[in-house]
Amino acid sequence: MTGPVWRRERGEAKICDECLREVESAYVEGTVTDNEFADRRVLCEDCYRAKIAFIARAD
Ligand SMILES: [Zn+2]
Repeated sequence: MTGPVWRRERGEAKICDECLREVESAYVEGTVTDNEFADRRVLCEDCYRAKIAFIARAD
């Protein structure tokens, strides 16, 4: 599998790249290349939903 993927992570505090809130459960966007996951962006659940809804509308 190659391309951007979202992985849900919880239990570790992260800062949302969109709203800069600190959250314990976030979605991490990454790119999988040769079965390695490279983090690119962190979104809290609210921003993730807003972003995914936006992407769905754009399609
Ligand atoms: Zn956020």
